[in-house]
Amino acid sequence: VASARVRRNRTIVGIIGGVVVLAAIIAVAVLVLPSILPSTPASTHTSAAGTGTSTPTESTPTPTPTPTFDKQAFSNTDPSSDWVIVNKQNPLNPKNYAPPLVPLNLPGVKGDMRPEAAAALQQMFADYKAQSGAQLTVVSPYRSYNTQVSTYAGWVSRLGQAQADRQSARPGFSEHQTGLAVDIDTAVSEAFGQTPAGIWLAQNSWKYGFVVRYQQGQEAITGYEYEPWHFRYVGIPLATELKNDGFPSLETFFGYPAAPNY
Ligand SMILES: [Zn+2]
Repeated sequence: VASARVRRNRTIVGIIGGVVVLAAIIAVAVLVLPSILPSTPASTHTSAAGTGTSTPTESTPTPTPTPTFDKQAFSNTDPSSDWVIVNKQNPLNPKNYAPPLVPLNLPGVKGDMRPEAAAALQQMFADYKAQSGAQLTVVSPYRSYNTQVSTYAGWVSRLGQAQADRQSARPGFSEHQTGLAVDIDTAVSEAFGQTPAGIWLAQNSWKYGFVVRYQQGQEAITGYEYEPWHFRYVGIPLATELKNDGFPSLETFFGYPAAPNY
């Protein structure tokens, strides 16, 4: 009985001894080896970006392609396109093009715009009123070819042709004929850009698909003086892209030649 107990005790000592030795080996491996061996990169991203010699592992994530904006998604020349470019070098084709229109139900001058622009404008006016308590008003929405004939003639008789061409389009060359442009809340005055309404519109109109079409310092490109009151509907995706990329004009964004003169 006694010798059997001794044998059993020796066996237990042997097991404990083996465990201690094993633990010591593991401790050496954990504590000492990392300082001897060359350090391995913590991430396959950094190694891939570094020497390029490391082999990708299954943990390497698939790169997500950066979404690129398709500048050819819509026409810049079709007068029915929300992206149409109309300037002193690019008249509407035909010059008396008549867009589909709906009446605006907004304070100010009664008139019409293309349906998508009218809906966006009504939402923008409603949101401005909700946020500021103040009311925007429409000064000039869609103008037909014949209306533009008299509008332009009126400016020429008041200012002379040279100055009229800086702020009013000749018939066939006006964005207002597309049904996508609207003058908001002012007589023709650059001071509008510094009013609460002008500031809010400049900062927020892109959310509704509008852009300040004739920005400050762009007359050599757009052909028009700064017009903080003139908003052009281009749709939310393009308005967002123009804002994010900081493009000051449609001409610059789409690579169109400058259009300072007819
Ligand atoms: Zn205008």
